[in-house]
Amino acid sequence: MKSAILSVGTELLFGQIVNTNAVYLSQQLNLLGIDVMYHYTVGDNPRRLSELLDHIYQDCDLIIATGGLGPTQDDLTKETVAEAFDDRLVLHQPSMDALEKRFAGRKIPMTENNRKQAWLPSKAEVLPNQCGTAPGFALEKDGRIIICLPGPPKEMKDMFQKAVKPYLEARSESVIYYKMLRAFGIGESALETALLDLIDGQTDPTIATYAKEGECSVRVASKRATREEAKAAVEEMTEKVKERVGKYIYSCDNEELCQVVARKLMEKGVSVASAESCTGGLFAGALTDIPGISAVFDRGLVTYSNRAKVEELGVRPETLERFGAVSRETAGEMAEGLARISGCQVCVAVTGVAGPDGGTPEKPVGLAYVAVHYKGKTQCRETTFRNQDRTWNRRHCVLLMLDTINKVLEEE
Ligand code: ATP
Repeated sequence: MKSAILSVGTELLFGQIVNTNAVYLSQQLNLLGIDVMYHYTVGDNPRRLSELLDHIYQDCDLIIATGGLGPTQDDLTKETVAEAFDDRLVLHQPSMDALEKRFAGRKIPMTENNRKQAWLPSKAEVLPNQCGTAPGFALEKDGRIIICLPGPPKEMKDMFQKAVKPYLEARSESVIYYKMLRAFGIGESALETALLDLIDGQTDPTIATYAKEGECSVRVASKRATREEAKAAVEEMTEKVKERVGKYIYSCDNEELCQVVARKLMEKGVSVASAESCTGGLFAGALTDIPGISAVFDRGLVTYSNRAKVEELGVRPETLERFGAVSRETAGEMAEGLARISGCQVCVAVTGVAGPDGGTPEKPVGLAYVAVHYKGKTQCRETTFRNQDRTWNRRHCVLLMLDTINKVLEEE
């Protein structure tokens, strides 16, 4: 199936909103094994939309469109699409009932233009909107398919997962199964080099590497007649990948590093505390984003100044004087002091030069130390991120803290 993504909305052409829908849909179609040939964007203009539909179908058999389904005057996608498919809009009573129920539940009157949303092409398969008002729909004629989804990303994603995915899977002769392995501590080129012969010789399963914000992923995918066959092929290849780069892989299920670490801490019932200097609380922020973490997360201290490191954590002034605030020794004493005051099992500390200023030849921007105190032992990692960007360095310090905790938990 050759597909195109069609984004409808004048706001997109004016640059008032970023087209995140197209990014999401491309990723999702790719995962389903459907080739995305084009991205098109058109304003709320029926003539141009109609001409564009004709043009796209010269080369594609599937269009996924978003936007223009809502109640306002400029939302004209439905009418134009119906016309292009020799269809007309009719009242879809279940959608009208759902709209009435939604408005009644919120005790707000339903205006006439809202009712317009329940008018849909007569031959369409209607896709209910469980997060908003405008239903989506799929229309098929002479081997051409169009699937129209609402513009708001939350509604679009929910509808894609619940209705579009099964719709497309039912029309496919093969099944795609994939695993997304996530790695930290290895660059994309080193990762690719380690897997080069597997990548070069690939037909099915396929292997692709991706890099994103200092982390890397490996996607292993297989397209077979049945899910079982595809899964078995992916699992066999995943083992080969793990043999080569397993020590960097922290998830085979596309989980974030923070989720993985939080899950392990919660599963093992290991209490945790943090003392942060250069990250200013970003680690505690990331961890407390995870629901349920209160079962194990005790406290997060931001000890930014030397004074705070001494007063709150008991770092010795001589250590700061002799080795400096950004040093292996200071990081170690921060973690140990935190263990004393909190009594937590895992105590993690970070200190570093985030930049863009403040670097010296001995202690350049990007230098960071992460110490972990666990089971009576303190381990410290030193790294120098080759980056002058403050935000980047601080985010990477958080990843390094998480990775360090992950490693000590795994060592058990
Ligand atoms: P509504 O029911 O809200 O009218 P709609 O299907 O008519 O939905 P639009 O009116 O085109 O959709 O867009 C509604 C909002 O959805 C936009 O203001 C924007 O915030 C968001 N949106 C639309 N298209 C996109 C897109 N391609 N990427 C990201 N956000 C989008």
